[in-house]
Amino acid sequence: MKHELLPLPYAYDALEPHIDARTMEIHHAKHHQAYVDKLNEALDKHPELSEKSLEDLIRDLSSIPEDIRTAVRNNGGGHLNHSMFWPVMGPSPAVSGATNQPSADLMNRLELAFGDYPKFREQFSKTALECFGSGWAWLVLNAAGKLAVTATGRQDNPISEGLRPLLGLDVWEHAYYLKYQNRRKDYIEAWWNVVNWAEVEKNLLQAQGTAPAD
Ligand code: MN
Repeated sequence: MKHELLPLPYAYDALEPHIDARTMEIHHAKHHQAYVDKLNEALDKHPELSEKSLEDLIRDLSSIPEDIRTAVRNNGGGHLNHSMFWPVMGPSPAVSGATNQPSADLMNRLELAFGDYPKFREQFSKTALECFGSGWAWLVLNAAGKLAVTATGRQDNPISEGLRPLLGLDVWEHAYYLKYQNRRKDYIEAWWNVVNWAEVEKNLLQAQGTAPAD
């Protein structure tokens, strides 16, 4: 079973003006595709891993043969991170004047964990801004069943640390450099407009094991 790049769940220009179409196209069709190709290339050397899901590969990296472990960590992680990233974004309701916010249930959980919604956003944005070099900021469900904010370097994913990622933000320069150059802070602020909170809530229900069956 080869790993595959899924089409974006919306058009490349759907996140304009916050994230530009050219960035989305290069990010998805070139960067993400390259992670998928390099993951498949690495796994070709170990056909016994071909039936393992992407999540299972990344969840327990110590079980991956040493000769391909770094390749799986980087490219499998890149594939998983981006596969989670595209659906947690969507066409911005802010364009039509609506406010883009979590629904009541998720809002309650965020308030419980962070005090209030602005404090959550502030902590998440700060984590994304201060992530040195290339990496990701995450909202996760931790082992204690509480929401938390964390960062990972490079293409690492929180599931390798036993956490359940609900919302991730890519702060690699390739995610924003064309439009924002070195202004990562502006990219982060703009990104909040395109967060697809319905998807984040779906991730939370799945992580808690309380999602309705598809
Ligand atoms: Mn990326």
